[in-house]
Amino acid sequence: MNYHEPAIEADAEVSVALGEDFPELRATVRKICAKFPGEYWRALEDRSGYPTEFVEALTGAGFLGALIPEEYGGSGLPLRAAAVILEEINANGCTASPAHAQMYIMGTLLRHGSETQKRTYLPDIAQGKLRLQAFGVTEPNTGSDTTQLKTRAERQGDVYVVNGQKIWTSRALHSDLMLLLARTTPLDQVKKRTDGLSVFVVDLRAAKGNGIEIRPIKAMINHNTTEVFIENLRVPAENLIGEEGQGFRYILDGMNAERILVASECVGDGRWLLNKGVAYASERSVFGRPIGQNQGVQFPLARAYAELEAADMMCRRAAALFQAGRPCGSDANIAKLLASEATWKAADTAFQTHGGFAFAQEYDVERKWREVRLYQTAPISTNMVLAYVAQHVLGLPRSY
Ligand SMILES: Cc1cc2nc3c(=O)[nH]c(=O)nc-3n(C[C@H](O)[C@H](O)[C@H](O)COP(=O)(O)OP(=O)(O)OC[C@H]3O[C@@H](n4cnc5c(N)ncnc54)[C@H](O)[C@@H]3O)c2cc1C
Repeated sequence: MNYHEPAIEADAEVSVALGEDFPELRATVRKICAKFPGEYWRALEDRSGYPTEFVEALTGAGFLGALIPEEYGGSGLPLRAAAVILEEINANGCTASPAHAQMYIMGTLLRHGSETQKRTYLPDIAQGKLRLQAFGVTEPNTGSDTTQLKTRAERQGDVYVVNGQKIWTSRALHSDLMLLLARTTPLDQVKKRTDGLSVFVVDLRAAKGNGIEIRPIKAMINHNTTEVFIENLRVPAENLIGEEGQGFRYILDGMNAERILVASECVGDGRWLLNKGVAYASERSVFGRPIGQNQGVQFPLARAYAELEAADMMCRRAAALFQAGRPCGSDANIAKLLASEATWKAADTAFQTHGGFAFAQEYDVERKWREVRLYQTAPISTNMVLAYVAQHVLGLPRSY
């Protein structure tokens, strides 16, 4: 094999569970989700609301602290368990996105934060006293090319003074803390463009009205996403995570976990949509027989099932490699790519199967159909994943 990424050796250390893993965890998630039916999510969407009660229920069950080690008050579960939680939430008609960021943003703090920072934040995050739900990376003018971001943080004594703008910062109005990526050394003064970026924990409670203004963006889905305007925001130097200038690496470090978790959310959504499609295909009778008796209706459902199964297996493999501390960049990216496409296929198939009723909000199919479209764009767009695979796995020249 002529691939760049180290080949996976056949060994017994990395094993993948088949079937329904973490059954007790899944059962608890299902029980919680049963209390938040479609009506709840539809009503929220009508008022662009945030599912506070749902997030509180998840926090109360310890799910948002799943990946926080026990010594910091969390459950210390493996990544696959967190993936199962998110998958199961979506597979039961709820939406994991209002809460998912906390699971993977926290990793940057855990891996690169000081002991004081970890003791300050992690136990309260695990208990739900502090919400770390916002992640400010994307900017209006730099797009996927993160190293070009313009938000500047300049050290002045004990503080960094930050100026700039972020866009699509989801949940910023429903979070106490935000992880912020900003440039601390100007681009023309660094050897590599990935140098000179730094990560900060910003306390939004203090910052709102004192250097930060947050404006909601009306979007196609109810994602509580915002624009964040930053003007002379003073962030205490002690809120810098790790070393100044190393922030890009810290963010990249968390990407594999993020990809695997998001891919699992996709699988969950896909399963919910597929189930809806299959149920409707069995119930709806036209021309004197169930529509699902027609191959033109059942084959797309069967294909969507097959593609979801393949994506699920890729999620499991990526999570197993991650857990074993093995290289998993290509697996995590491929899992996200396949899962985002499989869930979109399932959504579109469920939509088509429902005929005109797909457009009726009370079926929730159109809402999920809109929601799952996001995965091909965020947190990373499909082309960026393909560019990763082309360059890092196939050894083709960097295209950008
Ligand atoms: C609802 C929502 C929530 C979000 N939440 C957050 C959040 O909480 N925090 C955050 O920081 N960001 C968030 N994002 C931003 C998201 O991560 C970006 O939108 C995404 O990474 C794509 O960046 P962009 O929109 O700037 O697209 P661009 O980078 O402008 O790209 C536009 C298109 O061009 C393609 N493209 C660009 N360059 C190349 C190339 N070299 N080769 C091939 N194709 C290319 C892209 O794949 C894409 O299809 C969110 C976005 C949305 C829509």
